Amino acid sequence: PVVLGIESTCDETAAAVVRGRELVSNVVASSMDQHARYGGVIPEIASRAHAEAFAPVVSKALADASMTLGDIDAIAVSAGPGLAGCLAVGVSGAKALAWAAGKPLYGINHVIGHIAVTQLQFGAFPEDTLALIVSGGHTSLLHVRDVTRDIDVVGTTLDDAAGECFDKVARLLGFPYPGGPHIDRHGQLGDPHAIRVPQGLTQGRAGKQHPYDFSFSGVKTAVARWIEEQRAAGRDIPVDDICASLADSVATVLARKAIAGCEQYGSRTLIVGGGFSANSQLRAKLLEVGEAHGVIVRIPKIALCTDNGAMVAMLGVNLVEAGITPSDPAFPINSSMPLDVVSV
Ligand code: ATP
Ligand code: MG
Ligand code: FE
Repeated sequence: PVVLGIESTCDETAAAVVRGRELVSNVVASSMDQHARYGGVIPEIASRAHAEAFAPVVSKALADASMTLGDIDAIAVSAGPGLAGCLAVGVSGAKALAWAAGKPLYGINHVIGHIAVTQLQFGAFPEDTLALIVSGGHTSLLHVRDVTRDIDVVGTTLDDAAGECFDKVARLLGFPYPGGPHIDRHGQLGDPHAIRVPQGLTQGRAGKQHPYDFSFSGVKTAVARWIEEQRAAGRDIPVDDICASLADSVATVLARKAIAGCEQYGSRTLIVGGGFSANSQLRAKLLEVGEAHGVIVRIPKIALCTDNGAMVAMLGVNLVEAGITPSDPAFPINSSMPLDVVSV
């Protein structure tokens, strides 16, 4: 099947056409630059940018594919999770297109799209597999029995997401939003063992075991305190070393728990997705630990890690192929859509 995917959960307005496992076109417009000076995404600005970009982005995705709406079999759109005002623009636009063209419409879970997109690079999913989702809003280990309808959460962050932790530390260091890529770049120049950065929840806490859960808010606090101490003592801040040590700590705990989960669940493959999976230290660590434990790690190229329309279209193809009923034309957006809901 041929599916048009539309994405507007946060600051990217994106559309793509996927045919089977082939990415036919992929257009991404971002309002990131407009948020940089505020240190985070401003929902009102992002919603307005979606409203302006929606029609040109969708038109370009169809034009790049040399198609019209008549050539596609279905439309898929991110129905959540995300910023309500942003979701409303993409979902309303997708409903209008589906109605006008008489095409089935699927409201899908953006986060599951981050997993589905790996199929464009690595082919169909293994039968029963684990997936690590690492993004600006999520850090979770998922057991994926069937990407179209059967997903369980094995572990999740109890506080901040990994990307959020990087973005917060980046702010302390004076990098513009989103700071993740800046930490990555500086981290490649520093010493990963220069500063002791704690790893959240290695032992579980308060007698309760959290073998696959994560916690990153304490990591940010520890780095913030360390920086304050250096400043108070009049010492220079070794930015590259801080970035390298932070990345090493976060990548190590993510890789260790994800691969341990694969061993416990008998999964020979780990699927990785979400914007934070663009991080070079995490990519290297996952491949290294995976190789040591005989787990094949499917981590997509950078352009497919951050938000895009291809992930939405790919999941749409899976839903069409599985014969899942399209969404009711009146389906609502869900800004806090749970991870075990694949489509609405
Ligand atoms: P969600 O997918 O949970 O709804 P989101 O869509 O906002 O959240 P993504 O766009 O998937 O998140 O990812 C954005 C995050 O990825 C930001 O926190 C950003 O800093 C981080 N990120 C992007 N590239 C890198 C990198 N190279 N190193 C570290 N973090 C990165
Ligand atoms: Mg974004
Ligand atoms: Fe995302």
